Amino acid sequence: MSEKEQETIKQSEMDPKFKREISEMPGGEKLMRCFQCGTCTSDCPIARYSDTYRPRQIIRMTQLGLRERVLRSDTLWLCAACFTCTDRCPQDVEVANVIRVLRNIAAEEGHMPKVFSEQFTSILESGYAYRIPELRLKKRELLGLPPLPKGNPEGVKTTLERVHLFKQIIKEAQKHE
Ligand code: SF4
Ligand code: SF4
Repeated sequence: MSEKEQETIKQSEMDPKFKREISEMPGGEKLMRCFQCGTCTSDCPIARYSDTYRPRQIIRMTQLGLRERVLRSDTLWLCAACFTCTDRCPQDVEVANVIRVLRNIAAEEGHMPKVFSEQFTSILESGYAYRIPELRLKKRELLGLPPLPKGNPEGVKTTLERVHLFKQIIKEAQKHE
């Protein structure tokens, strides 16, 4: 967690309903089982290379109801969704799913880092997470490489609409234009 996130916790920041909100979402049900052993953090491949990313802390902050700190944290978005933490947790907490639930709420509430909203915009336009420059496509042609497969932006759009994230992502992307 960043310096700001390590500041003293004020009681006024704690939302007692937050843990229930997360525990009622699919994947978040076992949140309160966590007894802070730290296995998730010690086995997390991202925590190994990051000074700030600690899944154990995310779980604890969520239990404590630090809603705004958790949802506004950029580190929430570092999770690679590898599910190692979930596999290793002795309490069967679905850590990766809790993080997914938190990210979905963060996105709905407009706390998505710019890099991800830009990726979404690119996916919606081309089906690719990154815009591939024309020059690179021409180089492929010159080298005799086959054309890249077509993306499926319509399919992505339909999926996002079904999970009610489409409007929010468009709003976020427009904010950064
Ligand atoms: S491994 Fe499970 S019990 Fe241990 S800190 Fe992580 S979530 Fe909590
Ligand atoms: S799912 Fe996320 S938090 Fe869990 S081990 Fe993988 S990168 Fe770390």
